[in-house]
Amino acid sequence: MPLDKYKQKRDFTRSPEPAGDAAVAARRARKTAARSPRFFCVQKHLASHLHYDFRLEHGGVLLSWAVPKGPSLDPGTKRLAMHVEDHPIEYGEFEGVIPSGYGAGIVMLWDHGTWTPEVDDVDAALRKGDLKFTLSGYKLKGSWVLVRTSGRYPGARSGSDGRSWLLIKHKDEWAGQVDIAEFAPLSVKTKLDFAGILAQDDPDIWPSNRPAATGDTGRMFARIIAQALAMHEGAAPARKRARKTAPGQRTPSSGHATAGARKKVSPRAGTTARTARKPRARR
Ligand code: MN
Repeated sequence: MPLDKYKQKRDFTRSPEPAGDAAVAARRARKTAARSPRFFCVQKHLASHLHYDFRLEHGGVLLSWAVPKGPSLDPGTKRLAMHVEDHPIEYGEFEGVIPSGYGAGIVMLWDHGTWTPEVDDVDAALRKGDLKFTLSGYKLKGSWVLVRTSGRYPGARSGSDGRSWLLIKHKDEWAGQVDIAEFAPLSVKTKLDFAGILAQDDPDIWPSNRPAATGDTGRMFARIIAQALAMHEGAAPARKRARKTAPGQRTPSSGHATAGARKKVSPRAGTTARTARKPRARR
């Protein structure tokens, strides 16, 4: 089953991510003809490391590559793309907070639209390790290619396990020198940044499942959490406090984290900090 790996890694009773439906996947796969447009998205994912999840609908699922630096519009800049497990179609429009477990962090829908294969047989192209396609998104357009590498590409893991690909823009009118990740950093769905997405969710959940506590990513998390809490303070403090916190339960030092939420933190904190340092945990 295409999504078995995805399901193994997640506990859907604890995560707001959609669970997927094999029947829906199969139906969509049958409907998709060769060289016809189908869904694609890029989800900017702040987990143990910031990366961009590049997903192409095929065979009723989302084929997925984790691109640490994000796509580049410059044909001369090849971006490492680690092939990761397929995701369910419904995940493609997901934006929000993954509070705990695999992929814990914040997900932003950075771009979405359609992709069209430039070949008749996508499966053959994938086996060959050379898939050419056209994107029609808000930020990414024109002709691109995903090429599998031997695994010796600088920055990739050593060994040739077939997971390392390169995402490369072809030369066309949509190519250019602009750094698209920097130029267009916000959500295509809500126009929010990570702090804004986080502030839309329950701030009591978030600090207890911080996936990275050290290094640059840890500092980024700390800044974004502070921004999100400040946005909540500014937005609707009275309503939030009334709903979430019993009288007298609120700690004096924090806006929203209750004593109860703090207690849940401790058992997991050590584990997440350790996994954050594994270089291979990029998804
Ligand atoms: Mn990811």
